[in-house]
Amino acid sequence: MISPLPDAQEGAKSAILIEARHISQAYHKDSAVDLQVLDDVSLSLHSGEMVGLLGRSGSGKSTLLRILAGLLTPTSGEVLWQGKPLEGPDPGIAMVFQSFALFPWMTVEENVALGLEAKGIHGAERDRRVENAIDLIGLGGYENAWPKELSGGMQQRVGLARALVVQPDLLLMDEPFSALDVLTAENLRTDLVELWSENKLPVQGMLVVTHNIEEAVLICDRIMIFSSNPGRIAHILSVPFAHPRNREDAAFRQFVDHIYALMTQRAPIVSEADITSGQGQAAQPEPIFKALPQVSITMMIGMMEALAAPPLNGRADLPMLAEKLQLELDDLFPLGESLELLGLAELEDGDILLTNEGVHFVLSDLDERKAIMGHALIHHVPLVKTIRSVLDERPTHTANAERFRDELEVSMSPDYARQTLQTVVGWARFAELFDFDEEGDRFFLEDDGVE
Ligand code: ADP
Ligand code: MG
Repeated sequence: MISPLPDAQEGAKSAILIEARHISQAYHKDSAVDLQVLDDVSLSLHSGEMVGLLGRSGSGKSTLLRILAGLLTPTSGEVLWQGKPLEGPDPGIAMVFQSFALFPWMTVEENVALGLEAKGIHGAERDRRVENAIDLIGLGGYENAWPKELSGGMQQRVGLARALVVQPDLLLMDEPFSALDVLTAENLRTDLVELWSENKLPVQGMLVVTHNIEEAVLICDRIMIFSSNPGRIAHILSVPFAHPRNREDAAFRQFVDHIYALMTQRAPIVSEADITSGQGQAAQPEPIFKALPQVSITMMIGMMEALAAPPLNGRADLPMLAEKLQLELDDLFPLGESLELLGLAELEDGDILLTNEGVHFVLSDLDERKAIMGHALIHHVPLVKTIRSVLDERPTHTANAERFRDELEVSMSPDYARQTLQTVVGWARFAELFDFDEEGDRFFLEDDGVE
């Protein structure tokens, strides 16, 4: 099922560096059902390969990466690292995270050297290696700078240098560029690809997690596309372009479009059938409260208005719309998904289209828009409905947010729980369903709010 890789090095079929076999991961919760995050994921990465893992937020990408890094033992399945079972973190595997995680009290040089200290490499050898890594990654001249003096892009370079200085065989990267602004991300990405294709990086393989389709097509030899709930590998594609790649090429655009289409395919009917017929495995009940992405009302309205206006007239190709709205592709999916969740738009084969309700929204005045949004929230977002009922029932019309956070953490990580509440507050505020008092950490009803 895994397609042949492009001739990466010497044309020889290269050895498997890391292999995941039938990995499943469930997070155990004190509710009746565990949260199944990964389901039977198998993959292999060959020496000389740069592989991308693409999927929506919450599809389990970070979880899989932590398993491959030996930081998390999967509920079932195994990881083979250079042919042997992986039983914990291994010095041959390095990881780069989205946030920079640098020590503020250490200089650039000291931050980079950290990895070597842990390996017992000191003195001249240490200095030499640190200097090489710093030069390689474009940090020359910044050796003695403090992290806070560096831009986000430079900080992430320090993160990369720290991972590379130990000369790992495998580099795992979890959305390494997503905290950076567009231009900075582009620079770092280009540098990395250049070093990699010129064989200057001291690694044999790289796996990069991203939810940015163009990024994956720009840098990877192969792309694995994750489906969500639970995470599975839905597609594996070989990227047929040589480096350096040009995102303006027609063939490149077409490839990106193709991935968009794959990622917006309706969930396979099979899983619905599984749920209704109740036959075994895939019958995982959806959690009541789902994680919501960070999407503001303003963004949603902007997108709906752009979609409704000519020449789009209610339907648009997603990559085209991204360009028109000057949106990062990253931002478009959560936006589209949120509109879909609210019944205001639908995603279909790489397109987004307004529903009747969405058209109605755009044509309405502000008061009516608030009413439509309120209706959509109460009907499609159980969390909003629950918070509002609690507030209605209470004589004080207030409720502590903490209890809802706890409830969310039954089916999602604390980070997602916090983000979900934040999103819900923004949406509910617009619809005037309820408001939130940051200081008191509680929800309240606007009209009946405490004095
Ligand atoms: P991604 O990186 O694709 O956004 P993650 O692997 O971070 O996805 O998370 C997948 C799902 O697992 C999410 O629903 C998330 O809330 C949940 N999850 C992640 N870590 C934990 C945890 N430690 N406890 C409970 N749920 C978790
Ligand atoms: Mg993640």
